[in-house]
Amino acid sequence: MMLLVVNSGSSSVKLAAFEGTQQRAQAQVDRIGSGGPPDHAEALALGVAQLAVPARQIRAAAHRVVHGGAELTRTCRITPAIEQTIAACATLAPLHNPPALAGIAAVARLWPGLPQYAAFDTAFHASNPDVATTYALPAAERARGVRRYGFHGLSYAAIVRNMQHCYPNGVPKRLLSFHLGNGASSCAIVDGHSVASSMGFSPLDGLTMGTRPGGLDPAVVLDLVARHGLEQTAQMLNRGSGLKALGGSNDIRALHAARTPEAEFAIAHFCYWAARHGASLCAAMGGVDAITFTGGIGENDGICRSNILNHLAFLGAVMDGDANARGEKALHAATSRVAVWIVPADEERQIAIETAAAMSREGQT
Ligand code: ADP
Repeated sequence: MMLLVVNSGSSSVKLAAFEGTQQRAQAQVDRIGSGGPPDHAEALALGVAQLAVPARQIRAAAHRVVHGGAELTRTCRITPAIEQTIAACATLAPLHNPPALAGIAAVARLWPGLPQYAAFDTAFHASNPDVATTYALPAAERARGVRRYGFHGLSYAAIVRNMQHCYPNGVPKRLLSFHLGNGASSCAIVDGHSVASSMGFSPLDGLTMGTRPGGLDPAVVLDLVARHGLEQTAQMLNRGSGLKALGGSNDIRALHAARTPEAEFAIAHFCYWAARHGASLCAAMGGVDAITFTGGIGENDGICRSNILNHLAFLGAVMDGDANARGEKALHAATSRVAVWIVPADEERQIAIETAAAMSREGQT
């Protein structure tokens, strides 16, 4: 029996079929509503056909949901009440939750009665202390959920799980983890639990990203809104900033290849701010024992890894340049006080594992 893992974006659907912890097939359908399938239901049907897994073998569907708000802090079965809560969180994550809701509705339409589960990118950070999540804003704003949540949690939970293979006798106590892809963030993890994240109320905060600026003085946002209006500002901050704005592309490979001063500055900015936020997260942990890199850039870009670690050398992290150039799993030099690892992203399997756990809690297996 298979579990269908569904990752719905605004214009794409990624699918993976899992049998236990083994991924048996994957598929991706792009350009929903712009030349490809007209909607998420059609895209899902196409994707499932690509998977070539007989529909009768699909036992349940599990959706990646970006925002679970303060309430949804672990993977759970989607009931009408849970769906309503996810919809309510869409006001906090207007760009991120609606595609997941479209995916959930599409599965319900295609396979009425199929059990559906939701796994949340915010959930791993539910362990953050109040001092880390609270904005110093008036009580009324805090009461309606304006706080830091943190994202990329499924990726970080997978890192903690996979680090256990590197350390059978116990994962290092204080782990600074970088998820560096189009979206980029960093997370402070103590004893396997998130204590702080570079992302906040939304996935806009923190590191310089592919098309998002990372941390800004709120007065900049006020200025932009006054000048350009809300909608255009949201578009600029989500799609028109970051590496793309500084260097001309959100693809770091293109920036390395371009070799223009703007492209080099964009890469330098990305690495500098990754290190600045990383060091701040180390303060939240009182130090650091190991650093991990994941995501398209974290796993593949030795130049960025090396640049970020150079900024963090004062913490006692010494990289083995040859291991880094070869993209080996362990990157620390023998003299390094801090271990450094590449840990491949493994979010889909994390969703499958958490969903299997939720099903067994509910007696579904
Ligand atoms: P997303 O956050 O959309 O899942 P990815 O994790 O795929 O994105 O990361 C995208 C980024 O990773 C891009 O900047 C891309 O250039 C970079 N990247 C992907 N593969 C490589 C590679 N082999 N070498 C260097 N950079 C890479």
